[in-house]
Amino acid sequence: MTEGMLIKEARQPQNPLMSMKYVVVSGGVLSGLGKGVTASSIGVLLKSAGLRVTSIKIDPYLNSDAGTMSPFEHGEVFVLDDGGEADLDLGNYERFLDINLAKDNNLTTGKVYSKVIEAERRGDYLGKTVQVIPHITDAVMEWIEDVASKPADGSDQTPDACIIELGGTVGDIESSPYIEALRQFQFRVGRENVTFVHVSLVPVMGPVGEQKTKPTQHTVKELRGLGISPDILVCRSTSPLNLETREKLAAFCHVSPDAVFSTHDVPNIYHVPLMLQEQGLCNILGVDCESTGLLAEWRKMALHLDTLVEEITIAMVGKYTGLSDAYLSVIKSLQHAAMAVDRKLVIDWVEASHLEDGWSDAEESASAWQMLKGADGILVPGGFGDRGIEGKIIAANYSRINNVPYLGICLGLQVATIEFCRNVLGLTGANSTEFDESVEHAAVVFMPEISKTHLGGTMRLGSRPTVWQVDECKIRTLYGEGDSVDERHRHRYEVNPDLIEQIEAAGLKFVGKDETGQRCEIFELEGHPYFVGVQYHPEFKSRPNRPSPPFLGLLQAATKK
Ligand code: GLN
Repeated sequence: MTEGMLIKEARQPQNPLMSMKYVVVSGGVLSGLGKGVTASSIGVLLKSAGLRVTSIKIDPYLNSDAGTMSPFEHGEVFVLDDGGEADLDLGNYERFLDINLAKDNNLTTGKVYSKVIEAERRGDYLGKTVQVIPHITDAVMEWIEDVASKPADGSDQTPDACIIELGGTVGDIESSPYIEALRQFQFRVGRENVTFVHVSLVPVMGPVGEQKTKPTQHTVKELRGLGISPDILVCRSTSPLNLETREKLAAFCHVSPDAVFSTHDVPNIYHVPLMLQEQGLCNILGVDCESTGLLAEWRKMALHLDTLVEEITIAMVGKYTGLSDAYLSVIKSLQHAAMAVDRKLVIDWVEASHLEDGWSDAEESASAWQMLKGADGILVPGGFGDRGIEGKIIAANYSRINNVPYLGICLGLQVATIEFCRNVLGLTGANSTEFDESVEHAAVVFMPEISKTHLGGTMRLGSRPTVWQVDECKIRTLYGEGDSVDERHRHRYEVNPDLIEQIEAAGLKFVGKDETGQRCEIFELEGHPYFVGVQYHPEFKSRPNRPSPPFLGLLQAATKK
């Protein structure tokens, strides 16, 4: 590993020679090794040493962004302040580093090719043949330098360090232009300013639990063949790597033995930065990770979570295909709030359609109802498409009439409004025009300014203000000071403005509206312990030590149930 590689001079902000330090995190062997969590954890260590840290996630797919990708195939679409629809790893960075990223922090092949092709059409390349090398690779390097210099922590200060996570697995055809760009990048910004971290897998095999190094040897060989020699290896394994394994990896992978780290199984993810620090990563990076007290906070948080025993059960009523990543930020937000009320979170996944009348499988139906009735609180998350809608409406009805704490997010607000219109206002068959375009009683309607023909980038997206309409209500108290709150949106439909007066007169109060006072943002039901709906997605701004207020309210009410 390069002598004095990271950050020493960056610790003295007065140093005029200070240059941006880059940590490039690639992955080998297979996906799902927790590369994003590893990369974010390295960011936490740098931040703990007093550095301003930002991050860039590279996704080598051709989509411009994650906006049109199915969350059931790809995981949740993470929405940013500026309306960017990004890979869920940006959520890891925002939560771990407590920063706010922009759409350019998620670099995709779609974006970089569009940029180069546009430049070619403008004639910017002056008659040259436009090629992957150097034009795409140059565009990648320019993008990285440009985005890394943008403040991400709410200040106007340029970051000191940037974590670059390369999506996919080394050896994939589609990631090769990025590897080449990053190989060149070390010369562009100076080798001493780039640290290459490679995340790999060490499987444990046989009766004595032998730690196998061959997959890592192969992936490092492949990476080195492409011109990048990792400085640090982080190996995912079930148990801590033993000395022999570390030495073998060091010898075969051309890294120093003290630069081989293991991320073995731990009770919760807050242990990951701590585990890397305990193995000496801060020394290798050349920073003092205990200098700010941040790591001490993480230690407290990780241990606190380990000690929670009393359970709290939240029923998540959605549509599932087995990939819980589709609701990752919602799960994280529930965990943050559960930590704040000292409870161990249990999520019961209730398939919405199983709650519907006449569901064909009696066992599935019974189990869904048992979970709903057993829960301390009910959450209906965001969603699209009509499958399970009637089941979600039933869940909202159950919460409302049985005084069970309820949080409806986006679609969850809309289904609860439909339920209220049907069963309290007597508007038979009320529905959203998303599910029935010609419905007589349209409780939820298409927002007029949105395009009907284009899917990508046509939603009401990103951070928008919600202005309080009342001086006092539960959800306003939870948010605390201020006349308005900024939260992130992603929707095409809204509560029908024509019905608001009627709905409010019956007790469902729209206590937060957009800045024009027209569009409904938050409802709260009078006389119910906690029946709150939000048109926005509060899950994108929750932080481990600062749970999102609507989630905290749900968990607080659920502990009292
Ligand atoms: N499908 C609904 C809409 O477009 C809800 C969207 C969501 O839950 N994110 O308004």
